[in-house]
Amino acid sequence: MKVGIIRCMQTEDYCPGTADFRVIREKKGAFEGVAEDIELIGFTNCGGCPGKKAVLRARELVKRGADTIVFASCIQRGNPIGYPCPFAKKMKEIVVKDSGEQIRILDYTH
Ligand code: SF4
Repeated sequence: MKVGIIRCMQTEDYCPGTADFRVIREKKGAFEGVAEDIELIGFTNCGGCPGKKAVLRARELVKRGADTIVFASCIQRGNPIGYPCPFAKKMKEIVVKDSGEQIRILDYTH
């Protein structure tokens, strides 16, 4: 699995993504049960509110080999400050539409 992670730009000040790297390394959370090796292709942010740039970020991750786009838990779950992204649904929609069916999308990391 070749993973590209998109995170919330607003949350970067609170979180350096440590748990994301850990769950990939330990195959926990959204990566539980993944049999194949997991390679991290890139770790980027949504580009800021309202998340319109996420589609461009996902495109670049796919160009560089990602077969799976993962929205970090800060977006839909609001980790670590309990503040989910109000644009998460739309952001996912445009990324899914642009990426095509061959790209797997995961809604959270842990
Ligand atoms: S669009 Fe959502 S994910 Fe992106 S910075 Fe704003 S709140 Fe965070």
